[in-house]
Amino acid sequence: VKRVYAFGKDAQGNNVTEGNTHMKAQLGGKGANLAEMANIGLPVPPGFTITCQTCMEYANADNTWPEGALDTIQAYREDLEARMGKKIGDAADPLLVSVRSGAPMSMPGMMDTVLNLGLNDESINGLIAQTENPRFAWDSYRRFIQMFSNVVMGLDGDLFENAITAMKHARGVASDTDLSADDLKELVAEFKQIFSENVDAAAYPTLVVGGSVQFPQDPSVQLQLAIEAVFGSWNNPRAVLYRKQNKIADDLGTAVNVQSMVFGNKGNTSATGVAFTRNPANGEKEFYGDYLVNAQGEDVVAGIRNTSPIADLKHVDGLEDAGRELEKVFVTLENHFRDMCDIEFTIEQGKLWMLQTRVGKRTAAAALHIAIEMEKEGLISKEEAVMRVDPEQLDQLLHPQFDKNASYDVVAKGLNASPGAAVGEAVFSAADAVACAEAGRKCVLVRWETNPDDLAGMIAAEGILTSHGGKTSHAAVIARGMGAPCVCGVEALKIDAEKKQAVVTGTDVVIKEGDMISIDGTTGSVVLGAVELVLPELTGDLDTILEWADEFRTLGVRANADNPEDAELSRNFGAEGIGLCRTEHMFLGDRKQIIQTFILNEDPAVRDKAVNELLEAQTGDFLGMFKAMDGLPVIVRLLDPPLHEFLESPRALDVEIAKLEAMGGDAAAIAEKRRLMEQIDAMSEANPMLGLRGCRLGIVYPILPIMQVRAIATAAAELKKQGLDPRPEIMIPLVSVVPELEKLRGVAEQTIAEVAAEQGVELDIPVGTMIELPRAAVTADEIAAQADFFSFGTNDLTQTTFGFSRDDVEAEFVPQYLEQRLLPYNPFATIDPGVAKLVKMGVELGREGNPELVCGVCGEHGGDPDSVKTFHAIGLDYVSCSPYRVPLARLAAGQAAL
Ligand code: PEP
Ligand code: MG
Repeated sequence: VKRVYAFGKDAQGNNVTEGNTHMKAQLGGKGANLAEMANIGLPVPPGFTITCQTCMEYANADNTWPEGALDTIQAYREDLEARMGKKIGDAADPLLVSVRSGAPMSMPGMMDTVLNLGLNDESINGLIAQTENPRFAWDSYRRFIQMFSNVVMGLDGDLFENAITAMKHARGVASDTDLSADDLKELVAEFKQIFSENVDAAAYPTLVVGGSVQFPQDPSVQLQLAIEAVFGSWNNPRAVLYRKQNKIADDLGTAVNVQSMVFGNKGNTSATGVAFTRNPANGEKEFYGDYLVNAQGEDVVAGIRNTSPIADLKHVDGLEDAGRELEKVFVTLENHFRDMCDIEFTIEQGKLWMLQTRVGKRTAAAALHIAIEMEKEGLISKEEAVMRVDPEQLDQLLHPQFDKNASYDVVAKGLNASPGAAVGEAVFSAADAVACAEAGRKCVLVRWETNPDDLAGMIAAEGILTSHGGKTSHAAVIARGMGAPCVCGVEALKIDAEKKQAVVTGTDVVIKEGDMISIDGTTGSVVLGAVELVLPELTGDLDTILEWADEFRTLGVRANADNPEDAELSRNFGAEGIGLCRTEHMFLGDRKQIIQTFILNEDPAVRDKAVNELLEAQTGDFLGMFKAMDGLPVIVRLLDPPLHEFLESPRALDVEIAKLEAMGGDAAAIAEKRRLMEQIDAMSEANPMLGLRGCRLGIVYPILPIMQVRAIATAAAELKKQGLDPRPEIMIPLVSVVPELEKLRGVAEQTIAEVAAEQGVELDIPVGTMIELPRAAVTADEIAAQADFFSFGTNDLTQTTFGFSRDDVEAEFVPQYLEQRLLPYNPFATIDPGVAKLVKMGVELGREGNPELVCGVCGEHGGDPDSVKTFHAIGLDYVSCSPYRVPLARLAAGQAAL
C-alpha cells in the first residue's frame, strides 16, 4: 500500500506531485487539492501527505505504526529536504514545516495543527541568520513550543498564555508585538521549563534527558510526535461530536499534510489572507476576502487586527505582483474546478503561495446566482446548475432568519420543525395569542403540545414553541402548512400554563408571559430576548433554477393545503394540484360546537340539524378551494382524526366541575357537566391513533361521509355551472381491508350521482384511497381494484410500520437512537428504506390491480429532498407537501431525474 504522496516541485522546478483532487478519500480534502493546485501549475509550498488509511490503521492498532510506515515517511522527508535544498533542524539554514490535519470531509477547526516544526536550540540560529530578524525567529520558536506543548503533549494552553502575560506586565507593555527579541528569547527558556515541569516523564520516557523531561531537540522526534498527535485528533471528543452532528462516518480517518512553511510575517512585503473567487453571500462575481500585511494565518481568523479587502492588494507597495497573480489564480481555479472556490494564501517577501483551496460554502442566494451565472458563462451545463443547489438550503430564501450579525444566547434547543425565525412575547394559551395579536403585538405561542383547539392561536402567533411532540406532531404539521416557524419537542422546557411561565430545566432561565422570546425553526434554537430578524431577498434566480428543474423532472409536485390562501400560495410556488386537503381542519372554531352536538346527541332531529349546518359550511369551504385550484386536481380526504380531538378534554372538565363545586355553583349545571364528562370519558380510547378514526369513522357514522361528499359534489356542480373547471377527487383514509373501501366508495358514488341528478350537471369525481397501513400496502392489488388512485400516507405508514407513535417518539427516544446510531436518521423526516419498500410494493401491486392507478405520496416525506429522490426511483406519479416546501420538492425532483 502506498501511504505517502508527494506534492509540489523538485529542486529543478519539475512538478513531482503524486496525487490529485479525486483522491480525497486517501489524501483528505486539503491534501487532494494541494496536489491538484500543484498539478495545474499554481505555486504550492512543497510537501507530502500521509494517507487517511494510515491514520485508521494506526488508530485501530491501538496507536501503533503499521509496518514500514515510519520508514516511508522518513524517505519522503529526505526527499522534501532534497527538493527544498534545506534540512529540518539544520543549524545554518533550517527547513521548517507545518503538520496539518485534513479529513475527506471538511471539519473546520476540529483537529490539530502544528506550525514551525523543526526549530530547536541550534536551528534557531540558522533562522536568525537567514532572516536577519531575531525577533521573528524567537517569536516563531516560542509559538512552536507553545503549540507543540498544547496540541501534541496536551498541556494547558493557559500555562503559556500566563507566562506571556507576566512578561508583558514585567516589561510594562500592552501587546505581544511590543515584546522584543530578547523578551521572546527569555520566554522560550521559560516555555521549555514549563514543558519540563508539566510533561509526565513516565508517559514519555524517550524525552527524558539527564533525569528530567526536556523539550525534544531532535526534529525526527518532533515530527513523529506531531504526526501521531494529528492522527489522534481524529478521535478527540470535539471531532467525534462534530462527525455525529454532521453525519460523517467515524472510519474515514484524517490525512496528515507535512508542508514547507512559508511566512506572511516577514515584513511589509509579506502578507496572508483568505478569499473566495466570488461573493459567497450573494454570488456576485467579484474578488472577495481579506488580508493582513506582516501576519500569520491565525491572525486573520482571530480577528485581532483589522483586515483589508482583497481587491486592494494589488495597489500595496511591494505586493502588487502577488496581488495581480492572485487574481489570475482565482480565474485558473474557477476554470479548473468549475465552481466557486475558497482559498488560503500567504505572500512571503513578495512571492505568492497557495496553502489551501476547496469548493466554497455559500448561502442559498449565492448558490442560485453562481449556478446561473456559471451556466451563462458556459462553465457548467444546465443540468449541473440544477445539481449545484441544495434543495434543503432553499428554505433560507422563503422564511425570515436570525440576523447573522446579531449576538444572542440560545437558552434551549428542540426539533427544527418548521423553518424560519419568529420574535414575540411569550404567551401560554391560544386565547392569549389571539388577544395579543388583536392588540397589535407580536407573540410566540408556547404550549406543551398543540391540538386543533389551538389553531386560532397558532394563526395569530408569529411562531410556535412546544415542549413535546416530534416533526409530525400537530404543531409541526400545522406550522409547516402555514409557513410559520416552529420549534417543537424542547424537552428542557417545563411549561406551567396556569402560571403562564416556563422554566428551562438545568438553568435559572424563566420565561414569563410577556417576555420577548425568539425561536429559530431552521435550527431549533430558543432565545430569551428579541433577536434581530432579516428577510432574505427573493430573487428571480430561484424561479430560473426551478424552471430548469421542471424541464428535467418527471415526478409531479402537489401541495397539502386546506384553505384557499394556502392553495393559492402553493399554486404560486408551482404546485400542480392539491394532493391532500385535510378536512378536519375545517371543523374548528364555531364549527366545533356543531360537530360536538352531532357526536354527543342521540336525538336524530338534533343530529340532522347539525349535519345540515356542517354541509352548508363545508360546501362553502370547497367552493373556495376548487376555485383557487381551478383546472387542477384537488384531493379531498374524508374526515380522519379520532373523534375525541373535537371534544372537550375530560381532564379540563373535571377541573371545571371541581371549581364549580368549590364555589357552590348551580347543581343542575354541575350535573350536566358531569354527565358530559362521563359521556366523553366513555368514548376515550387507550390508543386513539389506532382506534376509531379514518375510514372507520365513516363506517360507524355513515352520515358524515355522505355529508362531506355531498358538499364536494355540490361545490363542484355549482362551479361547473359558473363555467369553471373544478377537479375534486375523494380520498378515503386509513383503509386496511377492501370491504371498507368498497362500502365507502359505494356511498360516495351514490351521493355524487344524486347531486349530479339534482343539479343537472355531469360529475366525474374519482374516488381513491390512502395507503397508510402495512396491510393495505401488502394487499394493494386487491385494494386497487376499488380505487382510482393511491396516496401513500407515509406519516401513518411510518408510525404503523415501526410501531412508533408519531406524536411521542421523536421527542422521547429517537434522539437517543440517533445518538447511538441505532437509526441513521429520523424516519418521520426522511423515508426509511423499510417503509419505502412497502410503498414500492404498494405501487407495484396497485398498478397490477389497476393499470390506470395514479400514485402519490402526501406524508411529510413528500417535502424532504432525500425522500423525494427515493419516491422518484420508486416511480410514483407525484409527491405532495406543505406549500412552502413545493419549491424544494420541484428542485429535488429535477435532481432525481438527472
Ligand atoms: C399520513 O399519514 O402520512 C398523512 C398524510 O395523513 P395525516 O398526517 O393527516 O395522518
Ligand atoms: Mg394519515
